[in-house]
Amino acid sequence: MHRVWPLIAVSLFVGATAAPAAPPVPSVDAAPAIAIIIDDVGDNLSAGRRAVELPAPVALAFLPHTRFARPLAERAHALHKEVLLHLPLESVDGRPLGPGGLYRDMPQRDFQRILQTNIAAVPHVQGINTHMGSLLTRYRRPMEWLIDVVYGYSNLYFIDSRTTAQSIALNVAREIGVKSMERHVFLDNVQHAAAIADQLDLAIARAHEQGVALVIGHPYPATLAVLEGRLPHLHESGVRLVPVSQLIAIDQQWRAKQWRLSLSPWHRDAKNSKR
Ligand SMILES: [Zn+2]
Repeated sequence: MHRVWPLIAVSLFVGATAAPAAPPVPSVDAAPAIAIIIDDVGDNLSAGRRAVELPAPVALAFLPHTRFARPLAERAHALHKEVLLHLPLESVDGRPLGPGGLYRDMPQRDFQRILQTNIAAVPHVQGINTHMGSLLTRYRRPMEWLIDVVYGYSNLYFIDSRTTAQSIALNVAREIGVKSMERHVFLDNVQHAAAIADQLDLAIARAHEQGVALVIGHPYPATLAVLEGRLPHLHESGVRLVPVSQLIAIDQQWRAKQWRLSLSPWHRDAKNSKR
């Protein structure tokens, strides 16, 4: 009996401090699903706080080594929001990336060491999404180095923010076997409430058509105001807002279902009859 007590004590302790277990992944036949990431968080405390406090399970992506990344990530985790590392990657226009930036001319050792330091700089990190990267995400070698490191953590997912149509990052992630998805809709390329609301509607439409939509926005006042107003009523549009990790699982189910359908004789006959 005396051997059991330490176990109970440990499980009580873990139960008291760890985040609640992830809810089961609903089947693909449930309502269409949307996940939202707010990225570029970490430099601005008040904007970051407002993003962390959004009234829904929105994920927050933190630029590494920024002044407020740690306390804001702690706060996000305490509020059961998913925390991502927002990973700065070289862009075609050579814009400065800030600390932790990854460049094409780096040797593999430096590249992977900096990436690991970036991951360690954000507490409670569950995933990585790309910041800029319109140059680096086109090249296989650095993307393999990147995904190789992510794979080594086993519990991290990868999101390609897809700042260029030529990105191969998602393909490399799937080849290596890392849980991954790409961004479907940017909320706020235009920082006006009406334009942002339209982009949210676009994401809702995509979710109705294709089961899922992954949305990325930024902690701009206009974006936060639209989300504060609309997130509490999102279910009225027939979609549910889920954490990013859950959206990846639902997306996987959807793609498997589409693949099975494409193999079924009925689907082939229907396709042929269109001729
Ligand atoms: Zn960014």
